[in-house]
Amino acid sequence: MERGLVSAAVPGCSNIEGGITLDLVNITGVELNDKNDIVSIGAGERWGAVYNKLHEKGLSVTGARSGNNGVGGLALSGGLSFFSSREGLVCDNVVNYQVVLASGQVVDTNEKENADLFKALRGGGNNFGVVTRFDMRTFKQGPFWGGSVFYFPEQFPGQIDALVDELIRPDASEETHIMISLFFAAQMGQPFVAMQPQMNQLNSMRMTTVKAAAEEQAAMAMTGVRCAYVNTTVKADSATLKAAAKVFNEALEKVKGFEGVVFSFTLQPYPLSLLENTSRFGGNILNLSPEDGPLVSILILMWWKNASDDETILTQSREVLAAIDHDAKARGTAVPYKYLNYAFSFQDPINSYGEDNKKAMLEVSKKYDPNGLFQKGAVGGFKLSV
Ligand SMILES: Cc1cc2nc3c(=O)[nH]c(=O)nc-3n(C[C@H](O)[C@H](O)[C@H](O)COP(=O)(O)OP(=O)(O)OC[C@H]3O[C@@H](n4cnc5c(N)ncnc54)[C@H](O)[C@@H]3O)c2cc1C
Repeated sequence: MERGLVSAAVPGCSNIEGGITLDLVNITGVELNDKNDIVSIGAGERWGAVYNKLHEKGLSVTGARSGNNGVGGLALSGGLSFFSSREGLVCDNVVNYQVVLASGQVVDTNEKENADLFKALRGGGNNFGVVTRFDMRTFKQGPFWGGSVFYFPEQFPGQIDALVDELIRPDASEETHIMISLFFAAQMGQPFVAMQPQMNQLNSMRMTTVKAAAEEQAAMAMTGVRCAYVNTTVKADSATLKAAAKVFNEALEKVKGFEGVVFSFTLQPYPLSLLENTSRFGGNILNLSPEDGPLVSILILMWWKNASDDETILTQSREVLAAIDHDAKARGTAVPYKYLNYAFSFQDPINSYGEDNKKAMLEVSKKYDPNGLFQKGAVGGFKLSV
């Protein structure tokens, strides 16, 4: 649960105490092809290095909003980028995964070669092999208007309305990417909220570049503390999202006295254009359809200091999620999808992809990994067999 250099928060996902860790850090290289439309990224690279290289050519790619993140976790699990409204998810933009299979054989997977494995990798996590290279579509990208704006908590319901209005507008812009958070930090408390000028000083909206925006996000990351993420997805509906924020606020009251607590309730949109782009690029395994959309991912991020508080905090998060899902179901706005990278161990993102996709993934696993090495040998992360 403690975060070191890796960035997945779920226990045992990226390394296991007393187990074997496969460190890909020496598989480096960020190479553009002759036409500059595909970038090949070694599995040990981080997004910051990719953005730096592409920035020199006026290009970019769908990657993490934080430059410090690794490539594999996002490109194998979905992945939201600054440009997802216009370009689709991170996994949708991978045109070829180079994979080491359980047999030791190195294969390319793309729309033409090993196409069944290719589709399963677009969301299936570490269930099928070790990816050593990610070939991704690039696009032209100049400076854009972006940054963070800080508001007082009373304004959050208004923010929800604005977010939903933007998502359901028939002419919603593909160029917009918004993420809104309700944020509580124990060490800041009331005095922080009372100081209006400080809020203004925190704002960072400006013309910026992908490189600088990703550096800004990386600087906001918390390291060296206990941490958990949980998530669910609902339709873009103001009443559902406001009810969810209320459930979160009530639960917060029970844990906010714990040492080092920082909690955030974050809404990340999956606009219609994002869902449509998924099929434009050949589809993934996540079972997200434009027919359901637009959608909003509800993400609860939790950081705290002491192991003795784990149980209470995790129980609260589980109950909050159950209450939000229950309420959304009653309103007819629930969606099964859980984003694997923001799920905790008591969640089941693989099953949230739906029965047909799970069956397809099991068949792929049987075909490319008949002895189930990546089910029984590499036990970390969310497994097909669970
Ligand atoms: C500060 C911060 C910012 C974030 N921003 C975003 C964001 O903008 N968008 C978003 O969608 N998510 C974001 N996330 C969540 C992020 O997607 C996950 O944390 C993701 O797992 C990170 O990928 P990684 O490769 O660094 O992780 P790791 O912890 O190294 O790996 C995660 C999982 O992927 C598997 N894996 C990794 N590489 C490979 C490979 N080459 N082959 C096979 N399996 C592999 C590992 O086995 C592990 O199970 C953020 C997280 C943090 C902490």
